[in-house]
Amino acid sequence: MICVLSGGTGGAKFVDGLRQVMPAEEITIVVNTGDDLLWWGLYVSPDIDSITYVLSGMLSRERGWGVKGDTFLCLQAMGQLGEPTWFHAGDRDLAVHLLRSRLLAEGKTLLEATSVICGKLGVKARILPMSNSRVETRIDTPVGELSFEEYFVQRWYQDPVKSVRFAGVSDAEPAPGVIDAISSADAVVIAPSNPVTSIGPILAVPGIREALVSARGKIASVSPIVGNSPVAGPAGILMAAQGLPCSIAGVVQAYEDFLDVLICDTRDARAADALRKAGLRVQCTQTIMRSADDKAALAREVLSFVVGDLIKEEPSANTAFRRVSQP
Ligand code: GDP
Repeated sequence: MICVLSGGTGGAKFVDGLRQVMPAEEITIVVNTGDDLLWWGLYVSPDIDSITYVLSGMLSRERGWGVKGDTFLCLQAMGQLGEPTWFHAGDRDLAVHLLRSRLLAEGKTLLEATSVICGKLGVKARILPMSNSRVETRIDTPVGELSFEEYFVQRWYQDPVKSVRFAGVSDAEPAPGVIDAISSADAVVIAPSNPVTSIGPILAVPGIREALVSARGKIASVSPIVGNSPVAGPAGILMAAQGLPCSIAGVVQAYEDFLDVLICDTRDARAADALRKAGLRVQCTQTIMRSADDKAALAREVLSFVVGDLIKEEPSANTAFRRVSQP
């Protein structure tokens, strides 16, 4: 069993590769829900949707979100009614939001609603929301505190970021199955997702970071930062706001209490050497995923690093970065 921690874009690309090279039944994805929002009164979980769509073959790979070939007639009609239209929900996408919202209103948890939807869409992998409780990523900017979707989608991440917090997280619990998936996995892979707003909320749920520190399998991270820039999006700005350099070293810093191996791009070979000297296992490979073949090749390499040669290594190899005793 491989457990992946994921956001919605880089994470979905990585999961798209993984499903090509191993049985989907053996993949569990723990997904960020800090971006969830109420839209037109419906509960939308953008990262869960992207992972569900990629695993059911429905994801629009051109856009990187939503359903391929979707229409936007409801969006048009809502605009005519004077409703906000900055969050682009397609018509078939809306069907999923409607179903999820009804299931939640009937008393199902987010995990249960996700399982129902995955079952109906033929998803064989296990998708676990990080928590059943509402945790909301809040971005503090000079214009005030924004939700992640307001900051990212509505305002195109143009506002300077003062700080990031995860409202409600201290009272949240991991969704059922999350701790077990991390603890018992042959390997845990942190997808090339935003370390602050996609992986950050997952790690902030009480108990998840501790489970990673004591996990029995290797823990690898695929860097979303290539050549000191994010491949896309605001990760660099958000990392700076959290005091992290926008580099592979910054990614390592975000995960240093549990990371065994960093997988970074060949363009970062020099920075990788510096991290190796500090005691971390670093593998350089092609990490930009444009085609289905790129995705499959990266997934295959990651698996060979984490359940191939690495598993045979001395357990003491990465003690500098795997401080098991640290809470
Ligand atoms: P979000 O929920 O939409 O923010 O999605 P994620 O957090 O899963 O993905 C966003 C991150 O994916 C960004 O920080 C990008 O740098 C990274 N990313 C996107 N495409 C690629 C890629 O092809 N390769 C790598 N290494 N990172 C990528």
